Order: sequence, then C-alpha cells, then structure tokens
Amino acid sequence: MSQAIETVDEDGVIERVSGPVVTAADLDARMNDVVYVGDEGLMGEVIEIEGNLTTIQVYEETSGVGPGEPVENTGEPLSVDLGPGMLNAIYDGVQRPLDELEEKMGSAFLDRGVDAPGIDFEREWEFEPTVEEGDAVSPGDVVGEVPETASITHKVMVPPDYDGGEISSIEAGEFTVEEPVAELDSGEEITMHQEWPVRRARPAEEKETPTIPLVSGQRILDGLFPIAKGGTAAIPGPFGSGKTVTQHQLAKWADADIVVYVGCGERGNEMTEVIEDFPELEDPKTGKPLMSRTCLIANTSNMPVAARESCIYTGITIAEYFRDMGYDVALMADSTSRWAEAMREISSRLEEMPGEEGYPAYLAASLSEFYERAGLFQNINGTQGSVSVIGAVSPPGGDFSEPVTQNTLRIVKTFWALDADLAERRHFPSINWNESYSLYRQQLDPWFRDNVAEDWPERRQWAVDVLDEEDELQEIVQLVGKDALPEDQQLTLEVARYLREAWLQQNAFHDVDTYCEPKKTYRMLGAIKTFNDEAFEALEAGVPVEEIADVDAVPRLNRMGTAEEWNEFIDELESDLQEQIRSLY
Ligand code: ADP
Repeated sequence: MSQAIETVDEDGVIERVSGPVVTAADLDARMNDVVYVGDEGLMGEVIEIEGNLTTIQVYEETSGVGPGEPVENTGEPLSVDLGPGMLNAIYDGVQRPLDELEEKMGSAFLDRGVDAPGIDFEREWEFEPTVEEGDAVSPGDVVGEVPETASITHKVMVPPDYDGGEISSIEAGEFTVEEPVAELDSGEEITMHQEWPVRRARPAEEKETPTIPLVSGQRILDGLFPIAKGGTAAIPGPFGSGKTVTQHQLAKWADADIVVYVGCGERGNEMTEVIEDFPELEDPKTGKPLMSRTCLIANTSNMPVAARESCIYTGITIAEYFRDMGYDVALMADSTSRWAEAMREISSRLEEMPGEEGYPAYLAASLSEFYERAGLFQNINGTQGSVSVIGAVSPPGGDFSEPVTQNTLRIVKTFWALDADLAERRHFPSINWNESYSLYRQQLDPWFRDNVAEDWPERRQWAVDVLDEEDELQEIVQLVGKDALPEDQQLTLEVARYLREAWLQQNAFHDVDTYCEPKKTYRMLGAIKTFNDEAFEALEAGVPVEEIADVDAVPRLNRMGTAEEWNEFIDELESDLQEQIRSLY
C-alpha cells in the first residue's frame, strides 16, 4: 500500500469501536479515503459518512483502541504501489511485504500500525529504454524494460492518468523506483513506480472475446471444462473436497505468464504451505523458480476480516498492471466466501438491512465488480493482455444453493463443482463431471483443433456421451444390479469406469501425473476409445463382456497418467489392446 502519505485537514476523534468498524466524529473525509486510526495509526478506509460521523473499516486488529483517540485522514483512496519487485513477494492484505514486516517486528502477523511500502523504494533496478528522445508516447505506452526476475521482464509504462507527450530525456542505467527514468516535454516525469486506487479498474481500450485456453495440465479441466485466458471460473466445494489443491495446481501449472495468488481468510497453515512450497517449485515452461512469476497475497483467517476485501482488490489491481504490459495473468482467490463473510460482518456492524442469509444486499454487485475485471483486453498501449480469475467458494455444508455460490454462478462462465462424495471415495480431483460446465468450450475448440488434434471436440464429446450414459445406467444398476443389464450396456459401464479412473482421476501429488499436457490428455482419451471400439467389435462378434474386460492389457489404461514416456506407453498399449481383444474371436 502507499506509504505514509502526509495527512490533510483536521484530525477526527474516535466515538465508537465495534470490531473492525470504527466510528469517528469531526473527520473531514470522503468515501473510500484511507485514514489512520487511533494512537497507533491503524490503516482503515472510510465506508460511510453520515452527518458529522464517519464510519471506517479498519484493516488491522482494533482491540485496545478506544474512544477519544485521534483519526487522521490521508485524503487518498486505498491504493497499491506498482512497480518492479512485486514478483517473488509475499504480501499481507494491504500490500505490506510479510518478510519485511517480520524483520521490522520479529513477527509476520501480530503487530499493527506498521507501514511498509509494497515495493522496495531503495533497491536499484537496471532500466533499458525502448523509446528514444523525441518519440511521442501516450498513456500506457512502454518506455523501457527492467529484468525483474529470472522469467519476467517488467515493462515501465506511462501511467494511464498522464497526458503523455514527447520524450525529452531518457537514459539507460540503474535507478530506484522513485527516480525519474524519462521526462516528457509536458513536464511529466516517468518513474518505475505507479500508484493505483484498488477499487478502480485500470483502463483498457477494449474487452475482447477470449479464444485461447488457460491450459492447466489438469485433464478434467483442459479436457472437459476449459477456462479461457481472460475467463472466469468458480470452484465451489465443501471442506476437504479439494479447493485448495485445485487452486495450487492451477497456480503451479497454468500456462499464465504471471500468477497472483490471493489467500483470503483461509487457515494459516494452508497459506504456510503455499509460502513454503512455492519457492521450491520450478516453472515447467522455463525451469526457473515458480515464484519468479508469482505474487502471493496472504490474508489468513487470524488476520483482521476487513483486510479480506482489500486483499482481493489489491490482487486484482496487481493483475491488471501486469496485463497492461501484455502478459497473461491468472489470479486465484481462495476463498471468496471468506470475503463475503467479511462483508456480512461489516454490514451487520453497520446495522444495514440484511439480505439473504444475512449477507448485504450488495453482495452480488461486489462479486460481479470483482469478476468483471477479468478478461482478455486490448490494452491502451495496443498490446493484448489477459486476467483470468479463478475463485474458490466454500459453501457451508457444501450446499450450493447458498447466496455466495448462487451469485457467483450467475457471473462466472466456468464452474468446477467439487463433490464431497467423490472426495470421500478418493476420486481426485473430485470435480463432478455431471454438474460442472464451461461456457468457453466452443470458442476454444478452434485452438484445440489447431494446437492439439483436429478431432479434439469430437473425442471430448464421445467422452461426455459415455459419462452421461453411465450416469443414466447407474440409476438402473442401483435398482436391479449390473448383471441385469444387456451386455452392451455393461460394456459401456466398463468403458466409463476407465474414463473416470484412468482419465478423469489425476494425482496432484505424483511427480508425473501432477501435470498432463493437452496432447497427453488427448492421447489417453484415445487409448480408452481404442479399448471401447475394439471391445464393441468383439462383443458384436459374440465375445462375452467378462472376457473382454479380462484382457491383460486393459488395466494398463490406469497407468497412462503416471507414465513418463507416455507416447511410447500409449502406442504399445493401443497395439496390445487391439491384438489381445482381436485374438478373442
Ligand atoms: P479444501 O480446500 O476444499 O478444504 P483441500 O484442497 O485441502 O480441500 O483437499 C483436501 C485433501 O484432498 C488434500 O489434502 C488431498 O489429500 C486430497 N486431494 C484433493 N485434491 C487432490 C488431487 N488432485 N490429487 C490428490 N489428492 C487430492
């Protein structure tokens, strides 16, 4: 967050403290101004003004703060510091670097009122101009580059709210983020540091229809329910069903240039896992440390609730900033339900009229405002960039009819429904293939046809049909048992079983299986289809289902996922399946 800004106007005085909500009298403030509350100067934001009273949501723990203490207004909206140094960083909900907090106070989570800028103001970065003196630049234009991390080049841009003009001076060299790297004839100076108010979407030229998938390396996602680069997805699921593992898998493997991971109100140990795990992981694309393309924002359940909102907004603003550079950014928010709960708590302390299940009436509007900031954009500098947003939802008891899930469903275009029964049966990822959907399928098909296989959509449709049929047959099986079914339907069940076990299941903790490239996803499906085709021909020739299912090669379908040399493995498997099944008749 922006650093100690000089305060303006008269101080106000605290009248009342109710958890994270503080009411102050006599404060000269506007909505969404950032204020410093109490003797310790805790950071807060103005959320209501009524006559002489200003209501503030405080982003830090307020115990011990009481009436009579001062409130200072900065006169500035809640903003993030943008510039080199955000990758590799771990922030709290108001963009204070956790490691720096730890150094300052010996503890990452406890102390309050400590201001720490989001980016290092002292560090020098190597700046290389990409324009020359005399060149005309407009808002958003890139004027130079900084090698920020092993994998990401930071683009230094004219801030969107500048006028722009002709470059009157620009130079390569080592600069801090506050030193001007270029000057314009308008008198404007460009530094590597921008501030941006988190509640305002950064401007873009146009939102476009996304046509490229955000490849996740997760078979059920890429294969059945793909999300586009610039798309939105929700992962709702009860406790223990795999939301966090899925989000982690996406953060690790999704083919985004930049990942912003927002841990919002989740348990501390889950976030610790991220913080400890991620720095050790390698980016499969570049072999570089994964953290060098990642920004982590950690607002754990033991941190103040109001900061859940700021961590969501901070995350999306950082994502937009990298989008402006022309990057594909993926933002994971785990979990949006905790943010909604924070809204509910603040709203009830404000004594607002509650909506459904106590959530404020503006719940839907807030969620959609957030997801709206996702998209594939034509940026104002002419580049194309995307922000994909994947939000976990934690419905109490796994009941999808509750307001947060329902309101999210109305907004997002990909829905990955996690299922407690599947998780209980240890079918992972426990994404229910009957309930999930992706509205991007059709618009992404051309990409899959061109980049993976011409018949990708048809093969997927075949899998969908078999799974649908299994679903229907299961009802009959429940009533009369499997043996009562005709042989062809028994065989369909057998094929469906392999679709589930060999293809849809994927072990996030297996070195090879954890990531499955689309070509492998496609070929694995092909092998099951080969089994299907050969088996049905054998059936037609009079071979009983049991005999077909007993063929040696068939169970090898289950080992495709973990096969490292998968091309060879699948070649051999397909030819064995063919040979062995054909030898039955
Ligand atoms: P949630 O966040 O929904 O509470 P988690 O993501 O923590 O649930 O998942 C709970 C457990 O389920 C994990 O600890 C892990 O053992 C198992 N699990 C979830 N997804 C997978 C997966 N893709 N592969 C293997 N195990 C998984």
